[in-house]
Amino acid sequence: MSNVRWLTPTSGFLSGYSHTLNPYVGCSFGCSYCYVRRLPVGLFRGEPWGSWAEPKKADPSKLAKEIALAKRKGPVTVFLSSATDPYQPLEAKSGLTRALLEAMADETPDFVLVQTRSPLVTRDIDQLKLLGHKVRVSMTVETDREDMRRIFTPSAPPLAARFRALKALQEAGIATQVAVSPILPYSADFPRILVEAAPRIVVDDYFQGDGSGGKRSEALGMRRLYDEHGLTEWYDPAVVDGLVDELRKLSPGHTIGVSAQGFAPTP
Ligand code: SF4
Repeated sequence: MSNVRWLTPTSGFLSGYSHTLNPYVGCSFGCSYCYVRRLPVGLFRGEPWGSWAEPKKADPSKLAKEIALAKRKGPVTVFLSSATDPYQPLEAKSGLTRALLEAMADETPDFVLVQTRSPLVTRDIDQLKLLGHKVRVSMTVETDREDMRRIFTPSAPPLAARFRALKALQEAGIATQVAVSPILPYSADFPRILVEAAPRIVVDDYFQGDGSGGKRSEALGMRRLYDEHGLTEWYDPAVVDGLVDELRKLSPGHTIGVSAQGFAPTP
């Protein structure tokens, strides 16, 4: 059997998490702004990022033992996932993320953040319930404008489906947040829509959230993409502040986080 480990200790870039967990290598959502495409894990196949994804070859039930071992060293807080989407299309067939959640029900981490942009996560509501208050689902919704989604993340699920998924998760009693990450050009209705969508909102951008002060995003050509579509004014660190101000005015009781601090575990 393979020696692949499920849990990877974090190196400090994800504030508060002890481990990341990536069920897949590659990601068929292929978002334009995804900086994983330039990391070794995105380059090794020599094929364009977004055109491939494969499950990690290891026994998912072994995750329980890994969690138990890691717990001996301290709290185990898991970010699922940092370099792929755990609910990308392949998951519908493979069920690998679901199998990992099953292992977590046997040996539950102190906290797990399920970070996705896919409504497929609702398939696993039964498993998520078993993790109780130790799990939170963070649904990426970068904008309320479908025309922007089609420019920046054309292979990702439609926005309306993501909002429906958030509602279904909340109705099932699962803790949720909406991750406006990275923020894309949005309509005047977006703050209200966000406040209605989830009790926690995290806002991030290319300048705070790409781990390099915006340099990685610049190298990916994001500024050029904005310019080409007449969106130059939106490529600006002040855009995050504008949305956060609007959200705080609209709903002072809401939990609103910014960048890494917003994603931090709060069991
Ligand atoms: S879903 Fe996440 S990992 Fe996949 S391409 Fe988009 S940003 Fe990258």
